[in-house]
Amino acid sequence: MSEPLSLVDSHCHLAEPDFDADRDAVLQRAVAAGVTGLVCVGATGAVESNFPAVALAGRPAPVSIVATVGIHPHDASTADDAAFETLARLATTPGVVAVGETGLDFHYDRSPRPAQRTAFARTVALARAIRRPLVVHVREAHAEAAAILRAEGAAAVGGVIHCFTGERDDVGPYLDLGFSISVAGIVTFKNADALRDAVRAVPLDRLLVETDAPYLAPVPHRGRRNEPAHVRLVAEMVATVRGEPFAVVAGATAANARRLFSLPAG
Ligand SMILES: [Zn+2]
Ligand SMILES: [Zn+2]
Repeated sequence: MSEPLSLVDSHCHLAEPDFDADRDAVLQRAVAAGVTGLVCVGATGAVESNFPAVALAGRPAPVSIVATVGIHPHDASTADDAAFETLARLATTPGVVAVGETGLDFHYDRSPRPAQRTAFARTVALARAIRRPLVVHVREAHAEAAAILRAEGAAAVGGVIHCFTGERDDVGPYLDLGFSISVAGIVTFKNADALRDAVRAVPLDRLLVETDAPYLAPVPHRGRRNEPAHVRLVAEMVATVRGEPFAVVAGATAANARRLFSLPAG
């Protein structure tokens, strides 16, 4: 109980308006849960969605906050030359440590698939040019996402497949590219046996945990606003599923996130 804890929420959207009313209280609860660092992902939509995250990364807070910038696959159809110019500028702002989220979402298909493929490949090229790791979002498109990462040389910068929802067989190609796998609150859902099986196939030094807050709250908060403190519930379930001590999973996933995202030691 008194054991010092270090958890990192490797992917949350803390700059979203959902947290405007009580962001400080949310951060205090994260600290109380053992969270010492978090990665604030800006790309909830088009390129403009990144500005609040970049601003948040520069602000003093009780936990280390770094930001990532990208264009969400849902909004890939907005990713024109001007958007990429803005993105390239934001990506080299102090406090911004990675590029994304980017990727393919063939579940919702909110942007046409050709636009998603083009924006994804172009984002990988940007990450390579400025030597930053990638935060990749993939839904129902694992084979094609891995193929694009391979074709565009993403192994040169590495990164993470965030909120992984694939199966055991989907893990290998990402590991071969040097990517890590991040697990979100879905791992606590009753119908997630295939995901829990996949989580057992990820080496401990390639495993991250995240909330994706305000989305995807883990059990028993499912359906309500999620927040970084709940990353502890994700790490607890990952530890149970893998049959490893919670402290080992917490420590390793925090160290992996710190290494990938250049987070200061917490
Ligand atoms: Zn995502
Ligand atoms: Zn996200």
